[in-house]
Amino acid sequence: MARALQADLTLIDGRLVPGVVVRVARDGRIVSVDEAGSRTPTEEGDRSPIQRLRGKALLPGFVNAHSHAFQRLLRGRTEYRAHGRDGDDFWSWREAMYRASELLNPDDMEAVCRFAYLEMKLAGFTHVAEFHYLHHAPKGARYADPVEMSRRVLAAADFAGIGITLLRVAYQRGGPDQPPSPEQLRFVDPDPEAYFADLEATEAGCADDGARPVSVGIAAHSVRALDGDYLRALASGARDRVVHAHACEQPKEIEQCLAETGRRPIEHLADCGLLSERFSAVHATHLGEGEAQLLGDAGASAVICPTTERNLGDGLPDLPELMKAGVSLAIGTDSHARIDPFAELRQLEDGERLRTGRRNVLASAAGEHVAPTLFAAASSGGARAAGLEAGAIAPGLRADLIAVDLEDPALGGLVGTRNAENAILAALALGGHTGLVSDVWVGGRHEVRGGECLRYRQATEAYRAVVDKVFG
Ligand SMILES: [Zn+2]
Repeated sequence: MARALQADLTLIDGRLVPGVVVRVARDGRIVSVDEAGSRTPTEEGDRSPIQRLRGKALLPGFVNAHSHAFQRLLRGRTEYRAHGRDGDDFWSWREAMYRASELLNPDDMEAVCRFAYLEMKLAGFTHVAEFHYLHHAPKGARYADPVEMSRRVLAAADFAGIGITLLRVAYQRGGPDQPPSPEQLRFVDPDPEAYFADLEATEAGCADDGARPVSVGIAAHSVRALDGDYLRALASGARDRVVHAHACEQPKEIEQCLAETGRRPIEHLADCGLLSERFSAVHATHLGEGEAQLLGDAGASAVICPTTERNLGDGLPDLPELMKAGVSLAIGTDSHARIDPFAELRQLEDGERLRTGRRNVLASAAGEHVAPTLFAAASSGGARAAGLEAGAIAPGLRADLIAVDLEDPALGGLVGTRNAENAILAALALGGHTGLVSDVWVGGRHEVRGGECLRYRQATEAYRAVVDKVFG
C-alpha cells in the first residue's frame, strides 16, 4: 500500500536529516523524499496521510550479503574444545557443520531458514543473499524435484517476508585432485551443464512479487571446490546475474590454489573471467599484493563477515587497501554465530583499530566521520552486491526501511542536544544493537511493528524440533 513516513531523523547521503517525509508508492518504491522546506511534485504516495514516527530515526534497510541460513543451527554448539584435539580451527568447525548438514531434509531446511530469516528481519535486515549449497539428498541422490531445496529456501524467505537473492552454489570437488567427501556429495553438481540446468529451473520457479524482491544468482563456492574449467564455464554462462565466491578466507586454501594453478585465488578467478562489477569476493581476508586492485579495477565488491571471521579464527582483512583500490564493501552474517548488523558494522572499524593501532581508519578523508562509510557497507554496498535496487532513501529505490528507537539508553544524552546528528549516527554505528530496531518495511510493507513479528513464535516451534533432531 502507498504510505508516507516522517521520522524525527532520516539517514540521507550519510547524514541524519530532521523532518523528512518519505513517500512510498503501491509498487513498494520510494516516490519522493522531501526534506524540510522542499517539496517535490505530487505523486501517487502524496494522497496517503503522513505516519509520524516519533522518537525514531529512519534508515535504509540493512542487506545481509552473505548467509548460510542452515548454519544458524550451530549457534552455541561448537564453542568448546573437543576431546582428542590440540586445538579447534576453521577445519574442525567445518566437520561439525557437515555433520549437521547431513541430517537435514527439505522440511528441516525450510524450518531453519524461516527462523533465521525472521531473526534477520527483526534485526533490521530487509534482504539476504543466501549462498545456498545444500542441494541434494544425503550421499548426493537427486530429489524428485532436483531444485526442491532451493524452492524451500525461497519459500522460507516468502514466509519470513524478507527479500532474497538466492545464490545457487556450484560445487564440484573436495579440493585439487580430491573427489568430494561423502558429506560433500549433497553439494555437488558434477559439471556446469548440470549446474546451469538446476540454476535455470530455480529461476523458472521464482517469482518476484514486486514489493519483495526475489532473484537468483551464481555462487562459485571457492577455488578449492571448483577447477579452472568449471570456473570459466560459470563466467561464460553468468550473463547479467550476480556472481559471488568465497575467496582468501583461510591460508591453506591459498597455498592449495598456488600449488594447483601458480596463482592466488583472486588472480585465478580473474584469469577465469569471473571478475566484473557484478562479482563479490566473500571474506577477502588474506589478499596478496595486487589482488585488491584486481577487484577494484573490475568494479567488484568484497563481502566482509566480521563476526564469523572472528568466530572461526580467519583473521582480519585489510579494509583500507580494498577501499583505496575502489572495492565496494558489504557485510554478511555468514554462519550466524550472531545476527546483528550493528555488530558487523562496529567490527569493521574496531578490527582496523586493533590491526593498525590507529583510530577512524575507515574515514576516507581528513575531517570525515567513520559512520557513513559503515552504514553504506550495510545498505548501498550490500544492495550492490545482491543486485538490488535499494540501499538508500532516494526516489526510485525500493522502500526497504527500518526505524530505530532514539529513546533507547544506548543513545541517552545525545538526542535532544545541539548538533548531535553526527554523534547519534556514530553511536548507532559503533554502539547500536538489534533491540533498537522497532519497525521494518520491506518494499513498503510494514513487516515488523514495535519490535515484533507475528510469525516468529510459529517459526520457533518448528525450528526447535530440528535442533532436537540434530543435537538431541
Ligand atoms: Zn560462507
